[in-house]
Amino acid sequence: MSTSRDILQALLRQGSGDDMYDLVCELFPVCRSISGDGVRATLDRIANEIPLTIHEVPSGSEVFDWTVPKEWNIREAWIKDPSGKKIVDFADHNLHVVSYSMPVRERLSLAKLKEHLFSLPDRPDWIPYRTSYYNESWGFCLTHRQLEALEDGEYEVCIDSTLSAGSLTYGECFIEGETEDEFMLSAHICHPSLANDNLSGIALLTRLGKALLSVDTRYSYRLIFAPGTIGSITWLAQNKARASRIKHGLVVSCVGDGGGPTYKRSRRGDVDIDRAVSQVFSDFAPAGEIEDFSPYGYDERQYCSPGFNLPVGLLERSKYGAFPEYHTSADDLDFVSPVNLDFSYNMVARIVDLIETNWSPVSTLPFCEPQLGKRGLYEAMGGDNQRVDRQMAMLWVLNLACGNHSLLDMAERSGVRYSLIREVSDLLVRNGLLRR
Ligand code: ZN
Repeated sequence: MSTSRDILQALLRQGSGDDMYDLVCELFPVCRSISGDGVRATLDRIANEIPLTIHEVPSGSEVFDWTVPKEWNIREAWIKDPSGKKIVDFADHNLHVVSYSMPVRERLSLAKLKEHLFSLPDRPDWIPYRTSYYNESWGFCLTHRQLEALEDGEYEVCIDSTLSAGSLTYGECFIEGETEDEFMLSAHICHPSLANDNLSGIALLTRLGKALLSVDTRYSYRLIFAPGTIGSITWLAQNKARASRIKHGLVVSCVGDGGGPTYKRSRRGDVDIDRAVSQVFSDFAPAGEIEDFSPYGYDERQYCSPGFNLPVGLLERSKYGAFPEYHTSADDLDFVSPVNLDFSYNMVARIVDLIETNWSPVSTLPFCEPQLGKRGLYEAMGGDNQRVDRQMAMLWVLNLACGNHSLLDMAERSGVRYSLIREVSDLLVRNGLLRR
């Protein structure tokens, strides 16, 4: 096994916040939804960076209690006012059309039109993001200022879309490790021009995938890029028998803004991923907040459904739904930054590193304490405070090294930070006092 320092440093060496931000910018204009060519274009772009297997699952396929929907694509959409002037145009912003709008071409009164218009009165300059996946309808989203400026008269609307038999598309990148046990990371790819939710997650997992290709890992890694809800349900339906290989998992979402970080525990609540995030937050992101599982949010809802009950948590910066820009045109390229993306990546790299390096040592001298002084282990220690901390860490590790306690257990029980527990355990291995 590589030493801890090797893995973390290798993960951090790959790419940068600027690279992630550039990918977000490049993918921002693409009109994605839960199916269609925007999803394919996004996956094709990711596949330029990492090895990606792209799956097409036909419309109408049964996936547990759900059915893969018709495929949606859109060419143009607009509203013309009574004078024939285009006042809302999908070409200006793809949030202007309710995702999965059925095709429409008609003239109608302002009152009738308003039944199909959505705005945010509290945020009059922002366009809301709306979808209508499982209920055939159509609509436009616009700023409240645009809505208020509409005058009476006959309007013309056009949505040149198709909603027809096709397929749902998702991608996965599998990177084989020493064992078949998997660490799964998942991001949804169904949102159109929204930067934090969830191009940030896509960019983070893409960088992580590239980095993992250059490291020897104990776990195999599976990165899933799938449309929200129906995509993870489809993946689980197609991988039901092998999902139990997932020993650790993270849904990564909204990781480009400066809030949080926030972590939502798995349904099980005390699995290694939950505990690893807690250690990384206390070491690296002390402002981080951890909350218990709830069955609302992103794809952790599916991974943590009772039949699977996988050890999967949700990592975010600002919590979904809790920042005003959420699901609006204000979740744009100014709302995310290279620095914030890089910090989030750094957190994930540390979580991966911790999971990779966690193990349960066995003392080679379990009868009474080994004499550290005669092995020069006191001399190996630094300044005064550090010396006391390291000495305590060493005593804890030696005392708990009966094979039943992992380094993570030791860190929790002792209150000594994980990185120090790991450092002294490496030292004790080098001195022959611990074995696997
Ligand atoms: Zn969303």
